[in-house]
Amino acid sequence: MNYDLSSPVQYVKGIGPQRARLLSRLGISTVKDALFCLPDRYEDRSSAKKIVQLVYDEFHTITGKVVSADTVTPNPRRPKLKIFEVVITDGSGLLKAKWFNQTFLKRLFKPGQEVVLYGMVKRNYWGAGFEIINPEYEILDEPDNGPPQENAGQPAAAHIHTGRIVPIYRLTEGISQKQMRNILYSVLNSSAFFIQDTMPAEIIRAYNLPGLQESIMNVHFPAPAVSVEALNRGTSPYHQRLAFDELFTLQLGLGALKREEVKEKGIPFTPDGRYLNKLLDTLPFKLTGAQERVFEDILRDMRSPAPMNRLIQGDVGSGKTIVALMAMLAAVESGYQAALMAPTEILAEQHYINIHKLVEDLGLSIHLLTGSRKNRNLDTISSGDADIVIGTHALIQEGVSFKKLGIIVIDEQHRFGVMQRATLKKKGANPDTLVMTATPIPRTLALTLYGDLDYSVIDELPPNRTPVLTRHINEKQKGSVYQLIEDEAQKGRQIYVVYPVIEETDKTTLKAAITGMEAFQVKFPHLRVGLIHGKMKPAEREEVMREFKGGTIHLLVSTTVIEVGVDVPNATLMIIIHAERFGLAQLHQLRGRVGRGGGRSYCVLLSYGITEDSKKRLDVMVKTNDGFIIAEEDLNIRGPGEFFGTKQSGLPDLKVANLVRDVKLLEAARKEAFALIQKDPSLAQHPQLRKSLEDFWGKKLELFKTA
Ligand code: ADP
Ligand code: MG
Repeated sequence: MNYDLSSPVQYVKGIGPQRARLLSRLGISTVKDALFCLPDRYEDRSSAKKIVQLVYDEFHTITGKVVSADTVTPNPRRPKLKIFEVVITDGSGLLKAKWFNQTFLKRLFKPGQEVVLYGMVKRNYWGAGFEIINPEYEILDEPDNGPPQENAGQPAAAHIHTGRIVPIYRLTEGISQKQMRNILYSVLNSSAFFIQDTMPAEIIRAYNLPGLQESIMNVHFPAPAVSVEALNRGTSPYHQRLAFDELFTLQLGLGALKREEVKEKGIPFTPDGRYLNKLLDTLPFKLTGAQERVFEDILRDMRSPAPMNRLIQGDVGSGKTIVALMAMLAAVESGYQAALMAPTEILAEQHYINIHKLVEDLGLSIHLLTGSRKNRNLDTISSGDADIVIGTHALIQEGVSFKKLGIIVIDEQHRFGVMQRATLKKKGANPDTLVMTATPIPRTLALTLYGDLDYSVIDELPPNRTPVLTRHINEKQKGSVYQLIEDEAQKGRQIYVVYPVIEETDKTTLKAAITGMEAFQVKFPHLRVGLIHGKMKPAEREEVMREFKGGTIHLLVSTTVIEVGVDVPNATLMIIIHAERFGLAQLHQLRGRVGRGGGRSYCVLLSYGITEDSKKRLDVMVKTNDGFIIAEEDLNIRGPGEFFGTKQSGLPDLKVANLVRDVKLLEAARKEAFALIQKDPSLAQHPQLRKSLEDFWGKKLELFKTA
């Protein structure tokens, strides 16, 4: 059998089928998986000290000779308590190591051996002398480890657990830290040789990158000179090299896609303003400068024969919907149909309620399509009778076909995968695409996450928006909420109360929407209290939303179904129960339901028991209304992986690179990758890179191509 990096890891010396099974739980099945399974963190155990120099209550690494090794029973009344004690000396003094109930160690330690111990040094019982409890250990003349090797660049065989910067790996049950380290060491020894560097030499030179093989070895067993802080931050030259590779491959894929798209033929729209001008006349407000600017970007794209792929970013309440509607009207004026896809039924219903009148007044026909609606009337879509179709994922189901789909708009795009975007696109012949998001992120990041998209920002809120006053209160202070509700209701304003769950269950003690609604109705008999949640029938839901919008429901109890898009300007008070359960982005979205022009608005975050982390989140909410600041803080608190939900975005997982920390690298990688694709579009002259690209992107690239 040919052995290479794709060989199963079980064939590596000392691993075998049983350990291989355990490793598979860590996502390691091939040799390559193991090589790229980076340590979680590093501990500096290199600063060896003489025993006389040790400092109490500090971690130390000590090398010495075993003087004695014995099991003792310190307390005759507790004969089961056994302590294994080893005394070592380094000529400067004595150090006693103790392990509790690990009598098997007796078989390992023998007087005369050279050993290394690592752990916290304590004062002994007499208040003098040194001892060390349950230290990590390494027996230097253990036959298994062999004598230290002199191979340049290779870690010496001994000293992998102590006496150096030591890698700490993520574990799974059945594998200890020490075993894991031995496994990685063995994998490196047997396979590092096979690692091939596919990065073009010019790039390696230009950025002064260390070699790939060198980098892999050093991220596992760093050379003594590497800074342990840099290793832990992932900013060592070796980590950065691996991160660069990842980002470069990522950008190569995006570059390839972008090229494909430029070649594609789209629709050159020819809007004449028939409907647009009428719409603008009937709007009760003037567009903001930002809305106008973004719409110009869109019109330019739509008129051009290349397909539009544009991302519109704008904070909650910045007025994305109207811009989307204008784009859809531009398509309709040119004789095409338009589709708008929203992530939840409530949001699709909201969009429908908000715009159907505007659209119908223009003499156009609009259709709502969601999964749970009975009367689906797909014929009006396929016949072309419906000019504008609004819906959920139901839009991308098989039975749905359009006569002449010209533009698709995806609202709250972070809730959709690339696949779904692609499928909707295929309902037309290269339709223009507009995706909208309220998650503010830096430009390079946006370009990466949304790959091939162009990018516009609505960076201005409509006038008359006053920041929502936000307070965080705990359970004991919740009485004050009732007064707030009473006050707002007196002024004719409306109120949202959001719960984390619909019903109470045995499993949690969370307050739930249904019981909450009943309690509020009892407390406020003169108000009409409504309830809305995801499990209701769509017709019921629409009815509740209509009544809330119309003002006949005063207080609306809900779950997070109202998180995105719901727009009732007269609602001025938002109460979030169990606010500690929600993420920052979610809280910001929820709060965005108030402060929509109906007057001074308030948000109360009610928490029940709270951790440091959730306190931090709620403090951010109290401090600011600015979506950018909130997103930044969210990013800090949650880390980029979770924040961006890269799975959802359809991007391959990044193992080493961090899109926030490595933004400079990301820019460099993008520049180089796009330049390379420009010169060698199909990577014909870089077959190895082509392979890395395919390995990294897998099927996802195909998917992007059709997107
Ligand atoms: P989002 O960007 O969060 O989706 P919406 O499109 O729902 O925001 O708009 C929020 C509210 O602002 C809606 O009530 C909308 O009618 C209103 N709005 C949009 N543009 C303007 C404007 N230029 N002036 C005043 N109000 C506006
Ligand atoms: Mg919206």
